[in-house]
Amino acid sequence: MTTFKKYLLPKEGEPIIVQGNQLKVPDNPIIPYIEGDGIGPDIMAVARRVLDKGVERAYGGKRKIGWYEIFAGAKAKERFGELLPEDTFEAIRQYRIALKGPLSTPIGGGHRSLNVTLRQVLDLYACVRPVRYIKGAPSPVKRPEKVDMVIFRENTEDVYAGIEWPQGSKEAKSIIDFLNKDYKANIPADSGIGIKPISITRTKRLMRKAIEYAIAQKRRSITIVHKGNIMKYTEGAFRNWCYELAREEYGHCTITETQLTGEYGGKQPADRIVVKDKLADDMFRFVLMRPEECDVLAMPNLNGDYLSDACNAQVGGIGLGPSANIADTCALFEAAHGSAPKYAGQNKVNPSALILSGIMMLEHMDWKETAKKVLTALEKTILQKKLTYDLARQVKGATELSTSAFGEEVIRNM
Ligand code: NAP
Repeated sequence: MTTFKKYLLPKEGEPIIVQGNQLKVPDNPIIPYIEGDGIGPDIMAVARRVLDKGVERAYGGKRKIGWYEIFAGAKAKERFGELLPEDTFEAIRQYRIALKGPLSTPIGGGHRSLNVTLRQVLDLYACVRPVRYIKGAPSPVKRPEKVDMVIFRENTEDVYAGIEWPQGSKEAKSIIDFLNKDYKANIPADSGIGIKPISITRTKRLMRKAIEYAIAQKRRSITIVHKGNIMKYTEGAFRNWCYELAREEYGHCTITETQLTGEYGGKQPADRIVVKDKLADDMFRFVLMRPEECDVLAMPNLNGDYLSDACNAQVGGIGLGPSANIADTCALFEAAHGSAPKYAGQNKVNPSALILSGIMMLEHMDWKETAKKVLTALEKTILQKKLTYDLARQVKGATELSTSAFGEEVIRNM
């Protein structure tokens, strides 16, 4: 029986449970949601309404999501006196799937990122970001329809893990003294310090998820993106461990690029996924110039953060970028963008990224009919040039809509 320290229990719905390795989703699953900061309330209200309508139209009232609000960020602080109540973690653990709005993090001082904390505490180790062109979306490149890739970003370690100390702190001083004295590191005494851990276990479980996805979705290649020529024992090791995992556990269905050109004479067998790698800096060029050769991409945390925004720009921008943070026991779906505070409360921004994250959530629940219905309606709305400001300002003859009016158009198109 679920209990919370501060939250009331959900009023409607039944919990999703796990049987063996499978999620068992009832017809009225409890889905926790975090409204988020900044533009969060605007886009969350619209995304929930669109998803609800999709469920209603797909299953004629037989199925219904039992939304359950949980709290993080400013709203949590206001109601419960803390930015990230323990009940929020517990609800996501218990109910297995949640939808999240963006949360603000001050740069420099202040509190640690709530997003990073959520990912680490819940061990949401695989950040999955599909980047695909939606016809009609404005793009700065000539052939955006060639972009159809899925980024698997390691989500719990790397310099992004938040293990760092400010310049002048006793921790920074003690680490600098130790490294300079024992390892002749020559670090200036007035430095801030950040640590970049990358481990075998966390690298391999990320690569396993990427390969499993590639097999299930019949993808043709996985590119490991790293900066291993310089950071040999972190990013270089990431590359080596990814290859090792592919060889050891998936040798029957993967080949390397070297095998492809040597053993297979350049002809990829239908039942083999090609595993290759690329340096992160070169990858930024490659995704722009030869996107059709980019399929599934696996990479450490920081590379994934940068590359996913850059790739999203090719297909219309961050307003169209969905994301899923997946653990072995639970999953948190959210837009790839942040809380865009300057647009907060203006009913202005694009809710598509959160709607698309909701579509990923429906697919994860195996409610594929709804996922397809909502996606088709969203695509149709964009093709009709009914767009929020971010896309409308780039499309000739577009009708500019507010966040909520865009949602209503998507519903009309279902
Ligand atoms: P941001 O919130 O993503 O906004 C950057 C710009 O992207 C906006 O000014 C806007 O561009 C565009 N944009 C973002 N969302 C949009 C939407 N839904 N529709 C249309 N355009 C959209 O990034 P930021 O300003 O760097 O970060 C703001 C806060 O969000 C920070 O506190 C950061 O830590 C946090 N953040 C949270 C998450 C998360 O919760 N997962 C992720 C990233 C950042 P224009 O101004 O050009 O219109």
